[in-house]
Amino acid sequence: MAYQRPKGTADILPGESEKWQYVEATARNVFKSYHFSEVRTPMFENFDVFSRSVGDTSDIVTKEMYDFHDKGDRHIVLRPEGTAGVVRAYVENKLYGPEHPKPVKVYYMGPMFRYERPQSGRMREFHQIGVEVFGSEQAAVDVETIAMAMDFLKHCGLQDLKLVINSLGNIASRQAYRQALIDFLEPHFAELSHDSQERLHKNPLRVLDSKDEKDQAIVADAPSILDYLDEESTAHFTAVKQLLGDLDIPYEIDANMVRGLDYYNHTIFEIMSNSKAFGGQYMTVCGGGRYNGLASELGGPETPGFGFAMGVERLLLIMDADKVAMPIDHALDVYLVSIGDAAQRANLKLIQAIRQAGFTAERDYLDRKAKGQFKTANRLNAKVVLTLGDSEVESATAHLKNMATGAEISVPFAQITTDFKAVYETVLAAE
Ligand code: ATP
Ligand code: MG
Repeated sequence: MAYQRPKGTADILPGESEKWQYVEATARNVFKSYHFSEVRTPMFENFDVFSRSVGDTSDIVTKEMYDFHDKGDRHIVLRPEGTAGVVRAYVENKLYGPEHPKPVKVYYMGPMFRYERPQSGRMREFHQIGVEVFGSEQAAVDVETIAMAMDFLKHCGLQDLKLVINSLGNIASRQAYRQALIDFLEPHFAELSHDSQERLHKNPLRVLDSKDEKDQAIVADAPSILDYLDEESTAHFTAVKQLLGDLDIPYEIDANMVRGLDYYNHTIFEIMSNSKAFGGQYMTVCGGGRYNGLASELGGPETPGFGFAMGVERLLLIMDADKVAMPIDHALDVYLVSIGDAAQRANLKLIQAIRQAGFTAERDYLDRKAKGQFKTANRLNAKVVLTLGDSEVESATAHLKNMATGAEISVPFAQITTDFKAVYETVLAAE
């Protein structure tokens, strides 16, 4: 084949795009009930937006970014995630100002780009639906936002979800833990994987997250961050656990969960699914947490934040594997069959009137014979077929057939063009 899409990208074709629309519409509905509004930020940002926020030593920034210098020699990145750009927009547009009631709650959906090894549920261009809440430190924000993510996934028909939480504490707690972890890992330096050796001093928490089996064995005995939380951090995490309990949302605590983005503090969480789609393994669909320092890191005032992002491709993989029925409407209200040139011309006015009345209508554009047109009407599952030949044009009436019952009625053109709704109801009621 001469032209192929770039590795790790996908074409979302008719038949599939309806599912995307359904998921997106469901997100909009659920998020609206929690009083979130949509924000749309650029697909590319300056390199610094991500290096400052996601972190200089993170996998995303060091290995996965699509970055380049544009014709004006600006260092540009195709966004690998949504939060940094939204926080940049929050600061730049002064949404922290008094005219914006706090908390500011926004959601986004759109493509993200990461140079990764493509596999099922891992693309180079993929899509996220995410949310951010700015301006409240309350644990209720953490919990309601997590609850909203769960709500949304349940609305999408997902079952057997596992919520895993952890706390990274505030900066002081994290500093104390960081040192304890380095002290613990240093005697094991020689046994650690190359990646973990690199991370030991730059970003030791990331070692906890290593996929390497030997690393995992070492890390199993590492001190727990939860033992290093100071009073404030413990109080926040305790409140989060209590409120999750109040809502009867089951959760597990994984003290080794750190997540791949450096901006998190206090609560972090993942929602995992063990759908058949992933061969019975738990796969993360949604991840997020608190990022209290991020707005100030990007030049704004000190602003608490909390957010999550979920992968739409992974979500749809699960929905497909679990055979979630989506209420997708492929229906065609009317197919117009015309026999002869005069009928074809007459059909043009009728089909436009029908569409203007709010119905879906299709006709033949390939000079098919009458039989072929009826066949197409059947393939498209038309509910009503309108037929026109020379004699109908002469008498200015059309035949309408109810495809479910086979009943037919004759209707004057004038009625079709002035009140198709009534005509349609009549033919659907015809037995
Ligand atoms: P993973 O550990 O699977 O690489 P991550 O920690 O890099 O995930 P986040 O940056 O937190 O993921 O993004 C949130 C969600 O976005 C993930 O849970 C996943 O559903 C989705 N996601 C992340 N990277 C990809 C990708 N390359 N392709 C498809 N979906 C992705
Ligand atoms: Mg990743």
